[in-house]
Amino acid sequence: MGGEMAIAISCTAILLFGIWIFVDGYFQGAKEPGHICPNCHSIIKPREVESGSGWITLLLLFFFVVPAIIYSFWRSSTRKNTCPTCGAPNPVPLSTPAGQAIAAKVSGS
Ligand SMILES: [Zn+2]
Repeated sequence: MGGEMAIAISCTAILLFGIWIFVDGYFQGAKEPGHICPNCHSIIKPREVESGSGWITLLLLFFFVVPAIIYSFWRSSTRKNTCPTCGAPNPVPLSTPAGQAIAAKVSGS
């Protein structure tokens, strides 16, 4: 009783979650450059580094949907921007006053 319904709901959830991961990854990749590194002063496109592994997400997703979603949210929350040139954390967006200040200092010296 209702077993098929549960399977159908699980399949739909897995499908939607898969689409979400794909769309999320796509928008990550589509981010423009426009950050300045406070360490090496390069204009860079930040590289995003997350804790954990995408394979674990996939594995969890395969067996249990809910832990996979939680795990994925945890990974998103640990996501850090780093400079691809020198590896320093927290590149500053050029659109912010702090970014502008660094850019002005670099071009002025
Ligand atoms: Zn750097």
